[in-house]
Amino acid sequence: MSSIPKIVILGAGYGGILTAQRLQKELNYNEADVTLVNRHDYHYITTHLHMPAAGTDSIEHTRVSISKLIDEFKIDLVKSSVQEIRLHDKKVILEDGTLSYDYLIIGLGGEPETFGIPGMAEYAMSIRSINSVRLIRAHIEYQFAMYKNEQRPQERINFIVGGAGFSGIEFVAELADRIPKLCKEYDVDPALVNIYNIEAASSALPGFAPELVDYAVEVLQKKGVTFKFGVAIKECMPNGVILSTGEEIKSATIVWTGGVRGNRLVESAGFETMRGRVKVDEYLRAPGYENIFIIGDNSLIFNGDKPYPPTAQMAMQQGVSCAQNIVASIRGKELRKFEFHHKGTVASLGKGEGIAVVGDKKYTGFKAAQLKKLVDLRYLFIIGGIPLVLKKGRFI
Ligand SMILES: Cc1cc2nc3c(=O)[nH]c(=O)nc-3n(C[C@H](O)[C@H](O)[C@H](O)COP(=O)(O)OP(=O)(O)OC[C@H]3O[C@@H](n4cnc5c(N)ncnc54)[C@H](O)[C@@H]3O)c2cc1C
Repeated sequence: MSSIPKIVILGAGYGGILTAQRLQKELNYNEADVTLVNRHDYHYITTHLHMPAAGTDSIEHTRVSISKLIDEFKIDLVKSSVQEIRLHDKKVILEDGTLSYDYLIIGLGGEPETFGIPGMAEYAMSIRSINSVRLIRAHIEYQFAMYKNEQRPQERINFIVGGAGFSGIEFVAELADRIPKLCKEYDVDPALVNIYNIEAASSALPGFAPELVDYAVEVLQKKGVTFKFGVAIKECMPNGVILSTGEEIKSATIVWTGGVRGNRLVESAGFETMRGRVKVDEYLRAPGYENIFIIGDNSLIFNGDKPYPPTAQMAMQQGVSCAQNIVASIRGKELRKFEFHHKGTVASLGKGEGIAVVGDKKYTGFKAAQLKKLVDLRYLFIIGGIPLVLKKGRFI
């Protein structure tokens, strides 16, 4: 290792930003060179993407310039796309250069998992990045405009969301809130519009208590969502889907939220993965590599015999822990085992509605919706203090 260790962080998502901020706080002057690589010069708040996707909030509430979050005297920000991770010679190949590292943190986030469903990768859109949600929003508006300029084809105003997990439910709720406004703007009768949420499992929102799931489903049905549970999408086409029941639903808009996997770059680096996620050791290191830490949606941690679901709160806590362990390792101190502290779960169901679990307390409706806002504000405070809360926060 060179005299000043080189630390390279890949990805400035929830995990990467928290790692960078903690390193910049804990490292002394000239103790290490830290480089943060991200495809964009902004950090986006993934848990918020469903809103600009449906058009119920602006993109600007969902992203923050990375230079506002880190001290660029302490951390080099490289805006580039990672192409390859070369473990044998400790290098990362970027689209426009190469970086070598002594310590590597991989926090490149997830990718949609389409489970090989024919046509899904080609014809469905996904809620994944600022660019992908801009596309969804523009596409939905375009369908309304086209509907009025063609022979009123029903497929233009049928909307299909595949998957009733967190992101599927939160998106469908926002979409249901947006549709009446679009109908008004484009002179379309709201009774003609259909929103379908299709889920292969027998119910929505795995992990929530059945009474909260029932509450969520009822709220969304009242907002006009048609659920199809226990029904899989067998094939996705440019103008609709074929279901496992044989039914065909025509739609020019299919948004797939039915699966997430880790970033493919992690697999192609040669790590052993389960759907792109690496089972890390108790210090968040890749098996066999004391200098490589894997966090967020790229990592796999078990809670008993089941893996924890990939969440923002997991990625954040891992980011802090891996930064502390890297500092400890540089200083020759003992590393600390990572322990996940579950702080609760909140799902938004659109304007003024939600469900939440905090400790052993369950919340529904307005209270849960306010909790969601508090969680969002807390995150902004953690990464950017009061100025960021005031600039990007959505208040009660
Ligand atoms: C719509 C939606 C709603 C969600 N809601 C919730 C919720 O309410 N609560 C919750 O806890 N979790 C939620 N999640 C899950 C949560 O967002 C993720 O678990 C979390 O973002 C993972 O953090 P991460 O740091 O691993 O990756 P990310 O936050 O995804 O960040 C990865 C970063 O890496 C960058 N990157 C990717 N590839 C490259 C490359 N090749 N080169 C350079 N940079 C690259 C990306 O641009 C991004 O900045 C939601 C997810 C979605 C999609």
